[in-house]
Formats: sequence, structure tokens, C-alpha cells
Amino acid sequence: MPVNGVGSCTAGAEKTLSTDAAARAACDLRGVQGIGMCDGPPAVFTTAQLLGTGMSRAQLRTQLTAGVLERRRRGVYTGAGSCPDASAVAAHGGRLACVSAARHLGLWVLTADVRTHVWLCDGQRTYHPDACECVEHWDDGPLGAPGTTPSMPRLLLQIARCQGIEEFFVVLESAMRRGMLDEQGRRWLSRRGNADVHEALSLARDDADSGLESLLRWRLRHLRLPVRTQQRVVGVGTVDALIGDRLLIETDGVDNHDGASHRHKDLVRDANAAIWGFVTLRFDYAMIVHDWPLVEAAIRGALATLAQTTGRGLAPNRKPPRATRR
Ligand SMILES: [Zn+2]
Ligand SMILES: [Zn+2]
Ligand SMILES: [Zn+2]
Repeated sequence: MPVNGVGSCTAGAEKTLSTDAAARAACDLRGVQGIGMCDGPPAVFTTAQLLGTGMSRAQLRTQLTAGVLERRRRGVYTGAGSCPDASAVAAHGGRLACVSAARHLGLWVLTADVRTHVWLCDGQRTYHPDACECVEHWDDGPLGAPGTTPSMPRLLLQIARCQGIEEFFVVLESAMRRGMLDEQGRRWLSRRGNADVHEALSLARDDADSGLESLLRWRLRHLRLPVRTQQRVVGVGTVDALIGDRLLIETDGVDNHDGASHRHKDLVRDANAAIWGFVTLRFDYAMIVHDWPLVEAAIRGALATLAQTTGRGLAPNRKPPRATRR
């Protein structure tokens, strides 16, 4: 049974839901990197909708035979090639919810939870396939047409209740960056959110460059360090974060820093930063998400070292060396 509006289904009778791991992995990657939404709308249709367009029942059967439409359950179809999550909710009878909806919209999502999150309303009948592992979200609100996602404030509240405040903060900043949460939506969230949600709303900005950067800032907040993100630093360019005056933090997403040429650029960038007295720490997705104690210890250690060297009068260069002055 759902608890606090969220629950996992365990029963089922219909074997129509496919869990396409490869497609989901691609969807996850898109979410983490904020590359873009799933191709096209979910394209979920009911028989009544299709017949309403002038399609005859014979034509509907032809479309199904040709694979243009796929039957998900009685009277509900998807367009061929719809993404796994959209197909899953069509099979269930609900709507995309929570992190499934966020991924579908191309927002940053950090969680590796690949279950389909389904939004259901009171009195709604569900159709769980065998061995279904979906996560049900039961909350009030106007369900849109089949294939639509919840409003952005509702989607964010679902994430806060289901996935916790860190995931909420990451998706919140992603939505703000894309202008998908207006002031009215913030107030709606504020009225329904707890103290953590209020703190996240007050800290959130609309210029975060990645979900990793958002998570970094959220996890550093309790250290009360002067953290400035997306700072332009002389001799280096725009960095993900500047802590204090000398410590640069770069977060490397999975797509940005693979390969020899990117590594070379990173090394050159770090060398230029060092000329000007900056220390650069680079963290990747696995470190920030799964090994935070190491990341935090490294930041504390680097700050302690910088404080010592400054105290001993080891000042940074005031101008770049001849070789870089071109
Ligand atoms: Zn959820
Ligand atoms: Zn999708
Ligand atoms: Zn289910």
C-alpha cells in the first residue's frame, strides 16, 4: 500500500510492460547531463481519441498490425517507439510521475532508480503487469490527458516526498535553469513543502551548469564556506565553483571529460590556474554522488594547505610567465 502518497506495486495480471534496460540507461544519461527530453511527446492514445479523429476500427487494426500503434492495454495504445516509461504508464493507466517524468522532460536526475514512477488518482483502477516494480504516486490533482506529465511544482513535490531533498534540489535547479518553474509555482511548492523544501527553494539558483554542481553546492552548504559557482577566473575561464579565493572545483560529467583531447584541455586549464595561485580539485559523478566523505575531506585539506601557504608568504604569481603571454 502506498505510504505518504508513494508506494511500490507488487501485483499484476497483464504481461505487456517491457523494461528495456538499454533505452532506460540512455534516458538516465540524458537526465544526468541535461541533454534533452525524450524524442517527441509520449503519444498515448485511447480508442475513443483515435476514432474521434475519423479513424475507423478497421484502420485501427491495420495500424496495429503494421506496428504504427502498439496496444498497451485494452483501449490504450502508444505510438511506435515511445520511450519505456511512457509505454509503462500507458499500460498502468496513470500518468508519468516524479523522476520518470523529470527524465522524460530532459531534466537533470541523479538517482539510478530505473523503476517507472506512476501518478494515480483516487478511485483509479490500475493494471500492473506481472512482476511490476513501478512506484505509485497517489496524490490529488487534475490528471491531464494520457501521456502528459504533472505540472512542474507537483512533479517536484513528488520527487521531494519520494526521492528526498537532494534529488529535489537537483531537479529544482534544472527546472529553474530552463525557466520551467515560475513564481506562482514556487509559492505552490512553498505552501506544501516542509522545512527542507523551504531551505532548498531559498538556496536554488537558475544558473547551475549541471546536476553535479547543484549537488556539490547543496552538500557544501553546512560548511558555511564562501562558495561561488560559475565564476569567471582570470587566466582560467569560467569554473564550476570557487571556494574562498583560491580553490577551484571542477565537476566532470560523464560526457565532458573522456578522451585524450579533453584530458589535455583539462591539464592545460589546471596548469594555467596554478600559475595564478589557484588549486584545482576535480571530482566526477561517482565521487560526488557515492563518495562524498572523500570529496569533502579533499576540499577541507586543500583549504587548510592554502591557508598555510598564504600564511608563509607564498603568494601566487602576479602576472603570467612569458611563455603564456601571447
Ligand atoms: Zn517517485
Ligand atoms: Zn521518456
Ligand atoms: Zn506497476
